Amino acid sequence: MVADNLEKVKENIAEACRKAGRDPGEVTLIAVSKTKPVELLREAYDAGARCFGENKVQEIMDKYPQLPADIQWHMIGHLQRNKVKYIVDKVKMIHSVDSLRLAETIEQEASKRGVQVPVLLEVNVAQEESKFGLKTDEVLPLAEAVSAFPHIKIQGLMTIAPYVDDPEENRGIFRQLKKLSVDIEAKNINNVTMSVLSMGMTGDYQVAVQEGATMVRVGTGIFGERYYF
Ligand SMILES: *Cc1c(COP(=O)(O)O)cnc(C)c1O
Repeated sequence: MVADNLEKVKENIAEACRKAGRDPGEVTLIAVSKTKPVELLREAYDAGARCFGENKVQEIMDKYPQLPADIQWHMIGHLQRNKVKYIVDKVKMIHSVDSLRLAETIEQEASKRGVQVPVLLEVNVAQEESKFGLKTDEVLPLAEAVSAFPHIKIQGLMTIAPYVDDPEENRGIFRQLKKLSVDIEAKNINNVTMSVLSMGMTGDYQVAVQEGATMVRVGTGIFGERYYF
């Protein structure tokens, strides 16, 4: 079932790329495996998935040693500073940097381990009270500050769009994130690139791809509904 779902999602991404005149090779699918058991991740792995997204440090720590080493783990959830040390050398990318203090902690821990960590700045484009993330006008100042950190590499922006019934309602949000990344790219900040746009989830990834997403984070569409106990 996971293999079929994965295939379907890839087809939908390819279709969205065709509509937008984009190359499907520009879009990385992140299989969001939070709350799911390693057996299901293994199924996705066997079907070709290599990028997995998790939103809890503990879950990455549990799953990491049980699965093949060529998996790329993406930390997509809110990250507490005291937990950075556990994952800083295990993840391919942290999508959820939203404060200078968090960036400072990542810099310290990455420096200790001699790694450079690719990160995205999380933007709360929709300005939802309940969500983490920077306000639009806070993004450039943070990018400029973090550009001085030798063990962090800002590679782009991430947003979590609101939950909506009609994905078209989020098109404007994705467009705003894309525009913001173009504006920041134009500043040519040393050590900062805007090559990654992480946006789009199960309900709206096709629209996100049409608007320029280079990473989509799909959970339910691959692994089925999540149950929280
Ligand atoms: C859970 C989650 C997703 C995936 O959500 P689905 O709707 O199941 O595709 C994507 N991004 C983040 C940050 C998440 O926490």
